[in-house]
Amino acid sequence: FNVHSNTLSNAQGERMGTLIIFHDITRMHRLETMHKDFAANVSHELKTPLTSIKGFIETLQDLDESEALTRREGFLTIIEKNVNRMIALVDDLMALSKLERQEGDKTVFEPHDLSAVIKSARAACRTRSESGRVTVKADLSGPLFIPMDTLLVEQALVNLLDNALKYSEPGGEVLIQVAQEKGSALIRVIDSGPGIGQEHLSRIFERFYRVDSARSTDMGGTGLGLAIVKHIVQYHNGTIRVESTPDKGAMFEISLPLA
Ligand code: ADP
Repeated sequence: FNVHSNTLSNAQGERMGTLIIFHDITRMHRLETMHKDFAANVSHELKTPLTSIKGFIETLQDLDESEALTRREGFLTIIEKNVNRMIALVDDLMALSKLERQEGDKTVFEPHDLSAVIKSARAACRTRSESGRVTVKADLSGPLFIPMDTLLVEQALVNLLDNALKYSEPGGEVLIQVAQEKGSALIRVIDSGPGIGQEHLSRIFERFYRVDSARSTDMGGTGLGLAIVKHIVQYHNGTIRVESTPDKGAMFEISLPLA
C-alpha cells in the first residue's frame, strides 16, 4: 500500500481530523514484476544460443586448416540450429505483442467453417512431424461457423497439435475432437503422452513457463506456444482449459462462440 495523510482543518484553522488515503498498488507492483521477469527471460533465452554461436565460431577460427575442414560441417549445423532457435523466439515474441495490441480492438470477425481450419492445421503439423498420427473425430450434424481470423485459429491449433506430438513418444496418437455445446464450438486436442503434473497446470499458459526446460528447448520449443494460444482464444472471446493425468496424457479444450 501507498499511504498519504493530510490534516483537515475548518475555516478558522482548527484541526478537525486527519485524512488517511491507502492506495492499493498490488496490481501495479505485480505488473512491474511481470515486466521485469519478462525482460530477464527474453534476455536469457537469447543469450544462451548467442553464447553457443560465439563459442563455435571462435573454436572454428582457432583450429588449424585441416581440422577446421573436418569439423566445419558439424559446427555449422549447431550454429544453424541456434540461429533457428532465435528466429523462432523472435517470431513468437512478435506474434504475442501483436495479439496484445489487438486484444482491446473489439474486432468483428467474418464467420468461417471450423473444419477447413482444422484440416489446414493438421496438414501444417504433418509436414513438421514425421512420426505421430493425428485423428479427427467430429460429432456434428453440420458445419460449425465461427467468427474468426482463420490464420490465428489455425496457429492456435497447430501449437496445441505440435505440443501433443512433440511431448508424446514417437508414433504417439493425437485426437482432435470437435463438438457443439450450446452457443459454442468445443475443440479438444487429446494426447496420451507424459501429461502435466497438477502443480503445473495453473501456470502452463504463462510465458516461458516449462515443466521440463531442457526437454522443451531440446525439442525446439520457445516456451511461448501456449501463451500465444491463450491470447488467440481470448481475442476471439473464447476460453481454454487443460486437464491432465501424469503418464496418461493431456487434454486441451478450446471453446469458441459460434456465429
Ligand atoms: P514449449 O515451447 O516449451 O513447448 P509451450 O508454451 O507450448 O512451450 O508449453 C509450455 C510447457 O507446457 C512445455 O514446456 C511443456 O512442459 C508443457 N506442455 C505443453 N503441452 C504439453 C503436452 N501436450 N503434454 C505434456 N506437456 C505439455
